[in-house]
Amino acid sequence: MSTSTSAAALDAADPLAGFRDRFVGAASDLVYFDGNSLGRPVAAAVERLADFVEHEWGGRLIRGWDERWMDLPTTLGDDLGRICLGSAAGQTAVGDSTTVWLYKLMRAAVDHAVRTDHARTEIVIDTDNFPTDRYVAEGIAAERGLTLHWIEVDTSAGVTADQLREAVGERTALVVLNHVAYRSAWLADAAELTRIAHDAGALVLWDLCHSAGAVAVDLDAWDADLAVGCSYKYLNGGPGSPAFGYVAQRLQGELTQPIQGWMGHADPFLMGPGYTPAAGIRRFISGTPPILGMVAMQSMLELVEEAGIEAIRAKSVALTSYAVELADATLPQVTLASPRDPARRGGHVTLHHERMREVTARLWERDVIPDYRDPGGLRIGLSPLSTSFDEVERGIAAVAEALR
Ligand SMILES: *Cc1c(COP(=O)(O)O)cnc(C)c1O
Repeated sequence: MSTSTSAAALDAADPLAGFRDRFVGAASDLVYFDGNSLGRPVAAAVERLADFVEHEWGGRLIRGWDERWMDLPTTLGDDLGRICLGSAAGQTAVGDSTTVWLYKLMRAAVDHAVRTDHARTEIVIDTDNFPTDRYVAEGIAAERGLTLHWIEVDTSAGVTADQLREAVGERTALVVLNHVAYRSAWLADAAELTRIAHDAGALVLWDLCHSAGAVAVDLDAWDADLAVGCSYKYLNGGPGSPAFGYVAQRLQGELTQPIQGWMGHADPFLMGPGYTPAAGIRRFISGTPPILGMVAMQSMLELVEEAGIEAIRAKSVALTSYAVELADATLPQVTLASPRDPARRGGHVTLHHERMREVTARLWERDVIPDYRDPGGLRIGLSPLSTSFDEVERGIAAVAEALR
């Protein structure tokens, strides 16, 4: 191997190496490169979920709602805000899916913008934004008579400050951006892009699905308006675990979300004739939230808090840098479809080759699990607490073999 450091030495020097044993299945030989699509279960979540079913659900029954579950969307939201999002309490709520949050917050934002300034009829969004974000924006534009202003991006990179400056103006109601691009891992300069949108008088919605839990997010310091993200990727809440929504305190009283349900009512159990929104972030909740996924997510949040998000990001940079180094040294036929600068790269690396679709299928048969993203992208997701450098080395060696 022509790389400077061995995987064993990197693992031995990794201050977070011990966390890997605290995930279900991490001891097996399987190489998991898809923790950015579905994180491994945290071992502590097994007991926590069993205990929840037996004692809280099974023992407390309907009383559970009064005792804890009614408040869990906001108490867990506060924990998530503190540990992962750089958000002060009272601005984050957990429930629904990312797609539903995108609909609620985009609609709330564009309605607010048009109400305060009739000329603001455009949503600015990039062509490589995650599909669901683009589809929801398309639907809202059709529903409200708005136009989409597309930023054309390089699929190996992402939206730059210059591109955004060119796209926004007096017509912009809302800008919708991914913090980390799902395909290339481009890490947007969120503080700078938020400032550019604000200078043009627009609101910004950040999609944090590919950054929450792997990259430090600083919503309050960015002066962010709105954000959404899911919990089954780097937050290990399990398949279908609920998403979160963030609304900056200063906007909460101004925005009206479109799915006004009983759980966002000022007094849900009054069950009265008309809708009166709750104060604060609660008004952005709609209906009964999925509690089981939140219980699993709590176990991961505890690990993230123990390790610290800055240390997690440092390991993430080391893992992706090692993957790039190995790819450069051993996969000459492949091109890097992610930023080379680690400061501009999130928690995954995409390698391009025209045969990657069949390579991915062959790797899955051999218990090496990356993801395939068209066109020709092999996506290597490296969840920092559950992935070792040895796993990266074995995985890249398997890619080299599959390509031969
Ligand atoms: C994974 C992901 C989603 C997923 O949305 P769901 O409603 O959970 O299916 C949305 N946006 C981005 C950027 C994602 O990476």
